[in-house]
Amino acid sequence: MTYHPSDDRYSKMVFNRCGQSGLDIPAISLGLFRNFDQADGYDNPRRLIQTAFDHGITHFDIANNYGNGYAEEVFGRILKADFKDFRDEMIISTKAGYGMWPGPYGDGGSRKYMIASLDQSLRRLGLDYVDIYYSHRPDPSTPIEETAYALDHLVKQGKALYIGISNYNAEQTKHISVIFRDLKTPFIVHQPKYSMFMREPEETLFPVLEEKGIGAIVFQPLFQGLLTNKYIDRIPGDSRAKKNIAHFSVDDITKERIQKVKALATLAYDRNQSVAQLAIAWVLHQKAVTSALIGASTPEQLIENVNAVQHLSFTDDELQAIDDILSSSS
Ligand code: NDP
Repeated sequence: MTYHPSDDRYSKMVFNRCGQSGLDIPAISLGLFRNFDQADGYDNPRRLIQTAFDHGITHFDIANNYGNGYAEEVFGRILKADFKDFRDEMIISTKAGYGMWPGPYGDGGSRKYMIASLDQSLRRLGLDYVDIYYSHRPDPSTPIEETAYALDHLVKQGKALYIGISNYNAEQTKHISVIFRDLKTPFIVHQPKYSMFMREPEETLFPVLEEKGIGAIVFQPLFQGLLTNKYIDRIPGDSRAKKNIAHFSVDDITKERIQKVKALATLAYDRNQSVAQLAIAWVLHQKAVTSALIGASTPEQLIENVNAVQHLSFTDDELQAIDDILSSSS
């Protein structure tokens, strides 16, 4: 069946400027870390991408190692089938930094790995360029200049429009941003882990990003599904926790966290939102945050999450109540 995107897709999304760049990113971005593995086949991934685009999600985030290359492959197939006419409406990112192929050249931050990996990713995606290419993690055994020069080189080759980093701490971020500034590299974004249950970036990283004018596309704002209604009463058999993938298991569903989710659900209800929508709106209220980078296993989850943009503002009392819930101990 030929895919025709929804005509009113842009009216369903809010766009935020990414740091001090000229690039707008949707408040909600879709990541392909899970649900785009070989075992997930083609039909559900395709429905997820179509649903996302129909709801104004223009940014799709991948990495070389998601599904060991399969996420890029299946996304490439979907692009070819449905999105040939819409490439210029999409922001597609990929990354390299974790182990991808055997031997010393398939891991880390060397020039050899960063360049070879993007060439492989472009082949799997069937693209000439990606919009954002990330160093997926810092590599303390490689001079940070080498990684930065390799990324800058890829921009000059036209294979990446913008550069990002992920999982770098505040000091590493400061260090590499000075190198990029001198090179005039379009380094515009950091991808840190951030959610109501993982607030570390607030203290150290976010102030640096704000000072440097770098945007934050924050991953796992739903804490892999815990910050939704999903686990409130039971642990569903088909859930990520039950499948014990992505370093997320039933051990993460603690009594204390569930109590907090229940309290958040009450607060969310008063705002006419679900917990998932509250959790997404909450990460977006941080000044440094450009986009909440979510995952979804069904189109229904995706639509629920996108509707978070209907209510993004918070009163001071609501923010205080959320802080109180999150800092309470049972
Ligand atoms: P999330 O915290 O968004 O978790 C997504 C999961 O939560 C879904 O797969 C689903 O789980 C569940 N879920 C989502 N919405 C709902 C809902 N409305 N109701 C009930 N359950 C829901 O993040 P992810 O772990 O998926 O990560 C998002 C993206 O972040 C990745 O795809 C990737 O792009 C990026 N990422 C980056 C990393 C990095 O190092 N830079 C590391 C990890 C992720 P279920 O399957 O149980 O239904």
